[in-house]
Formats: sequence, structure tokens, C-alpha cells
Amino acid sequence: MTARGRLPVVFPPEPDERLSSWLARLATFYAMTVPEFVAELDLAGCDIFDLEWRLSEGEGALIAARTGVTEVALQAMTYSEFAPDARIMIARKSRHCCPDCPADVYRRAAALPWTFICAIHSTDLRDAGGATLADILGPARFDVLHSHTKAGAAALDSWARGEGLGALGPIEMLFFLTTRHRHASPPNVSEQPRMSLDARRDYHRFLNTPIVRQALTVIVPEYDQVAPILTKPVCPGPYGLAQGSLLQTFALTIDISRIGDDPVTRAIEVLLARDPDGQERLKNALRSWPLSLRRRVSARLWRAERDERDRQIVEKATRWHQSHKLRYAQSHTYRYKIS
Ligand SMILES: [Zn+2]
Repeated sequence: MTARGRLPVVFPPEPDERLSSWLARLATFYAMTVPEFVAELDLAGCDIFDLEWRLSEGEGALIAARTGVTEVALQAMTYSEFAPDARIMIARKSRHCCPDCPADVYRRAAALPWTFICAIHSTDLRDAGGATLADILGPARFDVLHSHTKAGAAALDSWARGEGLGALGPIEMLFFLTTRHRHASPPNVSEQPRMSLDARRDYHRFLNTPIVRQALTVIVPEYDQVAPILTKPVCPGPYGLAQGSLLQTFALTIDISRIGDDPVTRAIEVLLARDPDGQERLKNALRSWPLSLRRRVSARLWRAERDERDRQIVEKATRWHQSHKLRYAQSHTYRYKIS
């Protein structure tokens, strides 16, 4: 135990500030490096991100003794309530920028990929280029979509805390969403930027680059429409969320909300949009879903595919009938004209 007393100056943590952020700010105040300051707390060799992940009672007591901040308040600055699997979701700094937060303050919620608004200032977060989701999606579309993220964020939050196990969880959904449901294909016309013929020749390689096609774009077509083509694909499984951009994590959170609302319908939508290339991959991704859901998906898919076949037959017959009638009318007119 330390015999040293309290540090002469200790400013209090900001609301929802992370332990790592507060310790780094104190180190800067004392003109020390973070390891030097941690040693000053009698925790030499400890990593601030490890302390923030799981702060033991002994470590908490040492920091409390030197700073005067209670052990309960220190624990509240950690992620100790998070399950081990959720650690990959915690970024070392804030993922996205709040224009109203001080640049050196990192808040707990801002490290999570399902946070899109600053919890303190209620400001829309900005991506690395300074754009908000409203800038990217348009304000009206963002407002509608943002309300859809709430259920997804709540599901992710309870998964991170180790709750809600047993049912279809966000990780199983993420594996499904990031599955390549179709073969990779070059940008289609709506995905290509407008360019002159000369530019098209210059960018021939780009226009022919096969782009990975993932199930998430079927469930959130709004993302498919606005995401830049080269950054449209996301990393597989939970990494799609853990390493995604502001727009990608926003889309995945909406995806999770929509699957949560109606998993069978959403799975069917993706299965109907698949090609033979994606069939096996989707089947594998669905293996982690509860059996009762998979059975409902198979039954509904069989019916949906039968209905689709019937619809195509009717359509073909109608087309044939119409063209036949047209040909008959044309030949009749023709005969009439020459007679
Ligand atoms: Zn803020």
C-alpha cells in the first residue's frame, strides 16, 4: 500500500468520462507521460486500457487514495460490466467527433460503435471528414432512420453486458448480415459516379473492379444507395461493427433493429436476393440461428419461391398472350392495308 498522500491537484472526471481519458489528462497536467503518471499512482507497468477494462479492488483503492475520487466513482468509469467478447467493440479513443466535447475528453459511450449522438450535448457525431449522418443521408432520411437505430443499439448494449443470451443475438445477426449473398460484381450504373467517356476510359479498371455484395444492403437499402462504392463492403461478423465507419455502423445497427423486429421476413428477403454463389454461405450463416427460426425460414422460403415461380409463369403467359394479340392485330392491319 502506498504511504504517499493525495496528489496536490486533482480535477474531477467529466460526465461519463473513461478512466483512461481522465488518467491521461491528469498525466498531461503533471507534465508526465501516461506510464510515468501510472507509476506515480503505485501502479507501475499497468496499462490504462487494462485498468479501465477490469479495475481490481486493490487498483481502485490505490487510485482512490492518491486522487480522492471514490472507488465506486472509479468503477463507474470502467467497462467492468461488459462481457469479455464485447471488448473488441471498445475503441481506444472516441470513434467519432462531437464538436462540443473538449478534444481530450473521451466518454464511455463514445467508444461504442452504436453511439451516433453525443450523450452529453445531444449533438450528431461527425466522421473523420467532419460529416454528420444527416449530411450523408439527408436530414429527413436521417431522422426516420435514426429512430430505427434505438432497438438495435439496445440489443447491442444488452449483449455487451452479457444479457439476453440464448435467443438470436446481435453477433449471429452480424455474421448473417456480412455474408456475401451474391458473387462480387463491378459497380452497377446507379453506383457509378457520372463521368465523361474519356474519364470512363481512364477509370476502366475501377469500373470493372468486383465489389463484395453483402446481405446487409438488402435489409437496409438506404445504405446501399448512399454508401460510396469502394467502402460499401464491411468487415465480416462482429468486426463489421467493431471496425466500421460511422455510416457502416449506423447501417448495421439499423439492420440489427430490423432483423430483431422480424427475423424470418428479413432472412427471406436476403434469401430471395441471393444467387447460387451465395446460397451455401447464407445457409452456413443461418446455422447459428435458433432451430425454431430456421424451420420457419425454410417453410416460408419454400412458399415464397413457389409464389415467385407462379408469378413468373403468369407474367410470361401474359406477355406471350399480349405479344400474340399484338402480332395478330399487326398482321390484320397489314392485310387490311394491302387488300
Ligand atoms: Zn459532446
